Amino acid sequence: MPLAHRVLIDHLRNLHRAASPTCVPEPPNALSPGACRVLFEEGTEAPGSSPLNREKRAGTYVCAACNTPLFASTRKYDSGTGWPSFWQALPGAVATKPDHRLAQARVEYHCAHCGGHQGHVFDDGPAPSGQRYCNNGLALRFIPEGEALPPPRPVPPIPPEGA
Ligand SMILES: [Zn+2]
Repeated sequence: MPLAHRVLIDHLRNLHRAASPTCVPEPPNALSPGACRVLFEEGTEAPGSSPLNREKRAGTYVCAACNTPLFASTRKYDSGTGWPSFWQALPGAVATKPDHRLAQARVEYHCAHCGGHQGHVFDDGPAPSGQRYCNNGLALRFIPEGEALPPPRPVPPIPPEGA
């Protein structure tokens, strides 16, 4: 892609972020600066920092930005990495793209509804899928079984990279 296009797309993505109703500090759409950095700047939280690492109750993990259900607790496992890990996402909940920012290429995944970055998926997970969804806890919220799922938040989708 020509550099000018890349600069323009980055500019548009920054504009989108600035306008994102998810990244205002006021309720009801309040997200912490850390959550915004992960979700909309593809940041990574420090390993071991998320209380969701120790979450073992039955329930559903929803996107912290738009409340879309992304993972079921029955697909969570302890990967020992320090990040909440799952071997399968809910059907159609996440989408992937290649991430070449590190020397070793990785596969990024994000909420299919709002585009908020969640983590990276690797092929060293447990059976039956063999996949490991390595998720930032800041990008998720846990809703225990029996509690109503939160209503969807309107979040304008981020234009896909390269579009
Ligand atoms: Zn989302």
